Amino acid sequence: MNDSLAVIERPQAANSTEFDAIVIGAGISGIFMLYRLRELGMAARVFETGTDVGGTWYWNRYPGARFDSESWTYGYSFSRELMQEWDWNEHFSPQPDTLAYLNHVADKFDLRRDMQFSSTVTAAHWDDAANRWTVTLESGEQAQSRFLCTAVGILSAHTMPKIPGVESFRGPAYHPARWPHIPVDFTGKRVGIIGTGATAIQAIPEIAKQAKQLTVFQRRPNWAAPLHNSKIGKAEMEAIKSRYDEIYAHCASTPMWFIHQADPRKTLDVPPEEREAFWEKLYAEPGFGIWLGNFRDIGVNEEANAAISDFIARKIRQRVKDPKVAEKLIPKDHGFGSRRVPLESGYFETFNRDNVLLVDTLNDEPIERIMPRGVKTSKQEHEFDILIYATGFDGVTGAFDRIDIRGTNGVRLKDAWADSPRTYLGMLAEGFPNMLMVLGPHTARGNIPQAIEHSVNFQTGILRFMQQHGYTRVETRPEHVAEWTETVIKAAEKLLSSKVDSWQTGVNRNVEGRSVRRVLGYNGHGVHFRRTTDQVATGGYQEFAFR
Ligand code: NAP
Repeated sequence: MNDSLAVIERPQAANSTEFDAIVIGAGISGIFMLYRLRELGMAARVFETGTDVGGTWYWNRYPGARFDSESWTYGYSFSRELMQEWDWNEHFSPQPDTLAYLNHVADKFDLRRDMQFSSTVTAAHWDDAANRWTVTLESGEQAQSRFLCTAVGILSAHTMPKIPGVESFRGPAYHPARWPHIPVDFTGKRVGIIGTGATAIQAIPEIAKQAKQLTVFQRRPNWAAPLHNSKIGKAEMEAIKSRYDEIYAHCASTPMWFIHQADPRKTLDVPPEEREAFWEKLYAEPGFGIWLGNFRDIGVNEEANAAISDFIARKIRQRVKDPKVAEKLIPKDHGFGSRRVPLESGYFETFNRDNVLLVDTLNDEPIERIMPRGVKTSKQEHEFDILIYATGFDGVTGAFDRIDIRGTNGVRLKDAWADSPRTYLGMLAEGFPNMLMVLGPHTARGNIPQAIEHSVNFQTGILRFMQQHGYTRVETRPEHVAEWTETVIKAAEKLLSSKVDSWQTGVNRNVEGRSVRRVLGYNGHGVHFRRTTDQVATGGYQEFAFR
């Protein structure tokens, strides 16, 4: 905390504009938030950095980008008409189709007229006396609102690697989260890619098909399993549409709001042959079943986790011809599922191609620096025409940190959350009145669009309640923030994933101060979260303080 920040300078801009609510971001969250705010009769404005709607699906246009969640659980469920008129073409929708879907939603509900694109929010300051937010854009333009809705996404603050010379490469260099709008042609090119997370695991097989030579710089391998994507025919789509109520009700009953439900048995209680047959079945099925539909203890019990990790390692050895390469691709520092499992389409077989080289930068050839013509490792200089930094994101809190958000007494959100976020239900942050966070830290996530709908519905429920009672200010109560923070931390304690560095545990060594693990999400059961939020709503939101 810094008392000297108590007086906030607010230069008066000539073009100030007043709104009931300002929404930051026009991705899945911002689109739905705007829709609900309009229903409440509120004057709202969405500010978005991109030139159009889509958020994640606007930015991440890299080859191979697609959902890992079943498309037919990924759409909005608030409009039956929308659900019935939209046909998904594939079980795991590719990025262009998803972006087309979000454009369709924006068009159908005429949302763009309240959206301002190419408008990056750089600051949002709370005025305690006036009970309102002043939002500043990169252009210097300012706007005021009673409510601030952060719809900034959990994976939107992309990060470049901290490698000396990173700006010196002379050829085109891309981060997948800032991929050009015109497809990149890799034909005849020597391509280098740094990083082997979910993004790279989707992109590598596609790039390898085109490039003359692809060199993959892997620091730590990730466990990955087959996606098994397929097309959806007309009749199949009609059948899915007729079951939407059932599908969404089922998702609402699972821990992470996907279709997958863990098997109630414990791994080691099941005879080895039966276990093996079960895993073979899951490995051959589409989607996250091998991770989320597995025995219930693979994410908490070391021995159970070692058994499934051994199964997946054997699969990698079967699929990769060169045993030395296979060993490099098998993680040794964390177990299967303790980082978000990337789903792949021919990733491991890609390393059987003559034009693909795997460089192990942890054990064999550390990267020393980026050079104008390529990447210099401890052993040699690799020359490239194109370089890709698939080096990930400053997850969950990163997008908040990049905006100068100040609450009561001028306290900066970044400072208030330096050690750990403090929120109630991940919906409102302590000390930041009238700031509603869609997918804020410490909320339940899993299937992202379903989590977003739940979050927005809860928050617009608060706004409706305030309208009914003539309240203009809502904030958290300290005792409930303390209780929720403890609940969230406790729920993460038993998980093997809590003992592993990843964006999910808040570790990103490319960002100053992000080398210590934090709990960033609610890891309890999705049903428990829904029940809690429903109880808060039906109880008249007593856990919040209103004025
Ligand atoms: P990521 O999983 O964080 O992977 C980043 C990769 O870059 C890691 O392999 C990391 O190595 C490497 N890296 C970072 N800094 C480096 C450096 N300085 N030197 C060398 N290597 C470096 O990021 P991501 O692949 O973008 O995926 C992030 C998340 O986005 C996923 O977990 C998923 O939730 C989401 N996503 C979803 C989909 C989908 O729905 N299909 C697709 C893509 C992404 P270390 O592991 O050693 O740090």
